[in-house]
Amino acid sequence: MARIEDKPDEMPPDETPLARRLADIRVVLVRTSHPGNIGSAARAMKNMGLASLALVAPKRFPDPEAVALASGADDVLAGARIFDTLEEAIGECVAAFALSARVREWGPRILPVREAAAAALAQSSGGKVAFVFGNEASGLTNEELLACQHHVRIPTDPAWSSLNLAQAVQIVAYELRMAATAGALSAERQEPLATVADLEGLYGHLEEASIASGFLDPANPGRLRDRWRRLFARARPEREEINILRGLLKALLKRRNKGPE
Ligand code: SAH
Repeated sequence: MARIEDKPDEMPPDETPLARRLADIRVVLVRTSHPGNIGSAARAMKNMGLASLALVAPKRFPDPEAVALASGADDVLAGARIFDTLEEAIGECVAAFALSARVREWGPRILPVREAAAAALAQSSGGKVAFVFGNEASGLTNEELLACQHHVRIPTDPAWSSLNLAQAVQIVAYELRMAATAGALSAERQEPLATVADLEGLYGHLEEASIASGFLDPANPGRLRDRWRRLFARARPEREEINILRGLLKALLKRRNKGPE
């Protein structure tokens, strides 16, 4: 008698609307030390129907420990994309959600993980959305957190708030699946949203215009860029809207360089 075996690799790809909703979510692990955590994270993702994994400067990868702990989620590991910087890993995403238990000065508004999962799925209809996790010992740096538009916290006992990396991934993946299943979102497709790289490009343009106009002293830039990041994270602009703003700034700067007519 034929034995029924668990052969996940041979299962047909999941093409249900739920799977399609989750397909635009990217898990980004930054500077991971232990390959076992990468494997466990891949397993946690596959259990919940997530497949897109990005690794930023992992200490050891590929590694047999990652394969062992992935426990069958080999396809997620094999498909993992490796980047040198966080900026590159999230550049094409329309939003990045940073996971951190620690409150930071000037960071984006903190969202509880359940709210973040719903918000992420709403935005993923406009493009890819990243969930960004830090190194096991040191977490995400302030700079890495500020490069993301949202700060997500998994509610815990305040006295003991730091979860194991893969367990944090598991909770996020579960909440995403629950939010996708609840269909709390309209299936309506919106216009493509601005990517992180589009937004950073706009901030560069704004900075240039601020300096050229004398509004900003380049020797003393203050927190202007971080304030813009907060503002645009709330606004969730479309790509075309950002292009209009950049076009306007470009035209103003060009006219200024030419001098009065
Ligand atoms: N000691 C580190 C924590 C590392 S835990 C620190 O102080 O930041 C590894 C990663 O898991 C974190 O960088 C974060 O992305 C995620 N994580 C762990 N616990 C979390 C929590 N309660 N809320 C949000 N993210 C958490």
